[in-house]
Amino acid sequence: MKWGMVIDLQKCTGCGECAAACKLENNVAIVEPEESALGRSMLWMDMLTMYEGEYPLLRVRLIPRPCMHCEHPPCTKVCPVRATYINEEGIVAQIYPQCIGCRYCMAACPYTVKSFNWYKPEWIKENRATKNPDVSVRPVGVVEKCTFCHHRLQKAKEQAKYENRELLEEDFQPACVESCPTGAIVFGDLDNHEHHVSHLKHSPRAMKLLEDLGTEPKVIYLTEVD
Ligand code: SF4
Repeated sequence: MKWGMVIDLQKCTGCGECAAACKLENNVAIVEPEESALGRSMLWMDMLTMYEGEYPLLRVRLIPRPCMHCEHPPCTKVCPVRATYINEEGIVAQIYPQCIGCRYCMAACPYTVKSFNWYKPEWIKENRATKNPDVSVRPVGVVEKCTFCHHRLQKAKEQAKYENRELLEEDFQPACVESCPTGAIVFGDLDNHEHHVSHLKHSPRAMKLLEDLGTEPKVIYLTEVD
């Protein structure tokens, strides 16, 4: 089993719903603009700004970018305390109580998907009720990142076991996938022929970010049709 994601840039409008849903689902703290300007934004799903063409035919595009959950993740290799690792299902995970906040993993990640908690995360009163009880809030001084909504996988597995059946593709879908209004994000087991992603990954439009680095991302993009 190898969980992975396909993002179809032909369907994606850059609306950012996926990024907003990720923040809410995973209790990702909202950072003040002044802190954000210092590079302290907390984003598990970011929207990358891409520039295509040249002025006056310049086109600006926003592209969703979660953790790539690399098959060969550089971040796990540099952690001195093994607080980040790749599990048997291909998800690159963080062990928050073990993290010493050295940020080596952030420096090693070529996709800049990791965020550091500079402060104790806080929510304004009005937003406290929206916190997801299934996801722990990370403390000050640790690094955090996208987990492919791993907590949903745990629940889905338990439900399937309770019903004495196999885990189905629709049982486990991250929040970003569910929220996308255009169905641009597809998620599933890249090794399972019954899952859509296992076919989409072979599309002639398939490409991976910074593929030359050999990290083998499990997030695959489908390029736009000309
Ligand atoms: S929600 Fe869907 S359409 Fe909107 S930015 Fe995310 S992937 Fe693109």
